[in-house]
Amino acid sequence: MREREWDHPLRPGQATVPLSRCGQWVTDLSGHVTKVRCPDRDCLNLAPLENSCIGAHPRDIGGRCPWTGVRVVDDRADKSEVRAF
Ligand SMILES: [Zn+2]
Repeated sequence: MREREWDHPLRPGQATVPLSRCGQWVTDLSGHVTKVRCPDRDCLNLAPLENSCIGAHPRDIGGRCPWTGVRVVDDRADKSEVRAF
């Protein structure tokens, strides 16, 4: 079963990461997520979200973040903070 994969420790290279595990994100006026906090501790800044995937972003220690390209799954509806339309 994949439905509870977010209970496992995050690791670079996995295909997706739930938005709630990023912990922080930015939305535009429509509520679409435009930036997320990268799960990697060496990435201090918010990373751009490109086609639902973590885009390239600077790292504290330089180099390419292993999370680049990982798809972010919007699980906000599964959490207590539910948006009403
Ligand atoms: Zn990163």
